Amino acid sequence: MMHPVLGQRRILFGAQVDDVHLTTEIYQSTSIFRIRTSDLNAHVTWQENLNTRLPAGSSFAIELAHNGNGNIEAAVAADTAGICIPDSSINLLDYPPSTPLEFVKPIGTGINLWPSTPLTYGWSLACTKLDPIGNWFQVATNRDKFFHLSHTFTHEALNNATDSDARQEIRFNQVWLAQVGISAGKFSPQGLVPPAITGLHNGDVIREWMANGITRVVGDNTRPPLLNTVSHTCIFRLWCPKRLKVILTIWLLGERVLAVDHHCCC
Ligand SMILES: [Zn+2]
Repeated sequence: MMHPVLGQRRILFGAQVDDVHLTTEIYQSTSIFRIRTSDLNAHVTWQENLNTRLPAGSSFAIELAHNGNGNIEAAVAADTAGICIPDSSINLLDYPPSTPLEFVKPIGTGINLWPSTPLTYGWSLACTKLDPIGNWFQVATNRDKFFHLSHTFTHEALNNATDSDARQEIRFNQVWLAQVGISAGKFSPQGLVPPAITGLHNGDVIREWMANGITRVVGDNTRPPLLNTVSHTCIFRLWCPKRLKVILTIWLLGERVLAVDHHCCC
């Protein structure tokens, strides 16, 4: 039986890059990489070129999810004159224990992984400028090429995090985002990308998000419990017979942006 599709289906396509300012292991390698100003400039050029080829009225910009501790880490490493006080970035006391994907933390449990000091953000603007990446974003014309939001300060996994750690992760990054001027740009103050999409079952973390103005976070709708294994919409029915597998690829003016593996089911 074919089910009618009522109303309008709208899909908004956004491109979000996280871990900005942090170092990362290169995929299938042990090499460590951190983005360079030349990479940021290359993305600006690519975006500008893409926008010349979009239909009238359209625009595209990458949204960057920032971890301010990466800026401080690089600045401290470059500091030879005692400018950065304290003279180290936040180093978590341990890695958070990994949890099953759908782990639900009992409220009030967990171990603080943030150090006992500093309790408040205290690095100076001059310190943040010692890092070329932190300095690049403080130029408004650079900053405004992108959208911005928080990805927490250190990228601590939040499934098993305490309320104290969650609060520090939010607040330190809020202060840093304001200090370097990012929150004066195209910034989403109520949004946050949780590290590795963790913390969404952690009542302590959710309470801290709400208490600190975070009302929208990124989730992961591909988690098995959220998947609908029997679709009743089947909007592609007219295009394919029962159970025929269709590969749908969307091309955006020559740029391949999305490949959807759609299984007809009705
Ligand atoms: Zn991340």
